[in-house]
Amino acid sequence: MTAGTPKPQVDTSKPHPARVYDWLLGGKDNYEVDRQVGKRLPAESADAARQNRAFMHRAAAWLADNGVNQFLDIGTGIPTEPNLHQIVQGILPTARIVYADNDPIVLRHAEALLVSTTEGTTDYIQADVRDPQEILQYARATLDFERPIALSLIALMHFVPDDQGPYEIVSSLVDVLPSGSYLVLSHAASDLMPELSDKVVAEYAKGGIRLGFRTHAGVGKFFDGLELVEPGLVTAPAWFKGANVPEQELSGIYSGVARIP
Ligand code: SAH
Repeated sequence: MTAGTPKPQVDTSKPHPARVYDWLLGGKDNYEVDRQVGKRLPAESADAARQNRAFMHRAAAWLADNGVNQFLDIGTGIPTEPNLHQIVQGILPTARIVYADNDPIVLRHAEALLVSTTEGTTDYIQADVRDPQEILQYARATLDFERPIALSLIALMHFVPDDQGPYEIVSSLVDVLPSGSYLVLSHAASDLMPELSDKVVAEYAKGGIRLGFRTHAGVGKFFDGLELVEPGLVTAPAWFKGANVPEQELSGIYSGVARIP
């Protein structure tokens, strides 16, 4: 962000995905229009948001433990502690993180994302994943594209329906990353709890938000040509829990991490 960036205009006349998600997580950065959508969603939606966020924590820590110290996180959301950079920089203080989201409310709260360790860097761009070239151009100022980068698209791509070229968008981002980079992706499922998922899609649609929930195969397609790490593309709570795996929780979110060969 540069000084003189105009104050982001937050539209409170219609619901926004980042603010509905913030409400589901118990946050305060949401408006009546967002809460109206949130309250009509099945109760499991709050579990899904929490499970998704917990997956982000575990995946970010796993990548940092494996030495990945550059992240491009698109669809960041309203800051909720711990944010990705806090997890990663807690393990690797020199880590560099570029955040991107298209919602002006995230830009308004971006200061919390910009509090980096002194050894590392964080940066934020308000941009749309459907314009990947703009994001890449900006990210090049902070990230070294000769070294591995983790691209995280966490609970983002289900906001990009099939007619908006979701697979081409992800490929165009993945294709410029060097070997040894990673794709981290979570995504709402259409086939795990189909009735609930139809209801969620219908409620968001009433608020003017289009969703493209996908099947296991449809989410798996984002990882075509990549090497999924263990345990593969699984539900969010099942992703790499480590030794003490508690009883399996139901979930409507798929999650996976893959290495770019
Ligand atoms: N990644 C965070 C937040 C997920 S909520 C987490 O998992 O906790 C989804 C986020 O994606 C919201 O902040 C929303 O504003 C953002 N988003 C939705 N469509 C987008 C688009 N086309 N381009 C960029 N960001 C988008």
